[in-house]
Amino acid sequence: LYDRDGWLWLDGEWLPWREATTHLLTHSLHYGMGCFEGVRAYAGASGTQLFRVAEHTRRLLDSAHILDIPLAFDAEALIEAQRQCLIRNGLQDAYLKPTVFLGAEGLGLRAKGLTTHVMVAAWDLGAYISPEAAAIGLRAITSSWARHHVNVSACRAKTNGNYVNSIMALNSAVKAGFDETLMLDTEGYVAEASAANVFLLRDGVLHTPQTTSCLQGITRDSVIRLARDVMGVEVVERRITRDEVYTADEAFVTGTAAEILPLRELDGRHIGALVGAPSPSHPIDESSFTARLQALYRRVTRGELGDGLEGYAEWLTPVKA
Ligand code: PMP
Repeated sequence: LYDRDGWLWLDGEWLPWREATTHLLTHSLHYGMGCFEGVRAYAGASGTQLFRVAEHTRRLLDSAHILDIPLAFDAEALIEAQRQCLIRNGLQDAYLKPTVFLGAEGLGLRAKGLTTHVMVAAWDLGAYISPEAAAIGLRAITSSWARHHVNVSACRAKTNGNYVNSIMALNSAVKAGFDETLMLDTEGYVAEASAANVFLLRDGVLHTPQTTSCLQGITRDSVIRLARDVMGVEVVERRITRDEVYTADEAFVTGTAAEILPLRELDGRHIGALVGAPSPSHPIDESSFTARLQALYRRVTRGELGDGLEGYAEWLTPVKA
């Protein structure tokens, strides 16, 4: 990723991609004290547009506030940096990673006078796990690592340090031959996947965990609103147990990078086997709720907003005015 042409934004300046390095004593590298976002831009009929960049930027500012890291840039400046990052790099379908970190003026937990930095990088990002995953779904295993407890870590904040736990959980699952992991909270209820929220459909009602220990996903919010307001489906936010996922009619995970990916197997149980769940030999049925939601999400992210979807224009920010 580091050896390529392009530009990165750092504290209001543009750096050539290969020169965008930082000192080895950078405080955030040592303790994970920093926060970031993952944002997508989509090319559509009316040009490239950032998807829900205002909500992502607000979550970045919230994360920094939770960590008590003051920033020199407001939401407007950070959104403009993200737009410019796409323009400068000639990107259309892209993934952006605005990141807040502390400088190298001192180490140790008591370091004072550290500078605070914000950077924005953007690059092309294809399918999150594999090009086929959206059609054939994911095989997951429940992790023995719990998702953070609210008294252990700030679950509302997308902090760098929070991801050690997610990566360990994911790596164990991948080493064991699975695509994804399901993380439970410390009381044993379903929290989320390694970097995506979880939903299940049973008897036409959509269920998802409350945002206590899981991240308050922006795709999660988009899905709840599209399901309720466009697809007319009841959505319940509540505590969910892993055996409810086994017995769901459909299950899927949501995230900016992941978008909407079916979960076809958890702990060796084929989810929704009775209603024709996806598998490598049987791609997702177009009439399933998950497939219809995927198609709707695709239309909304790409700005195809006819037929009553006009109101969702507020989720899209044109990159070129
Ligand atoms: N949970 C975690 C831990 C994540 O890293 C992500 C990805 N940001 C999500 C959920 C999904 O959030 P969003 O839809 O806002 O990308």
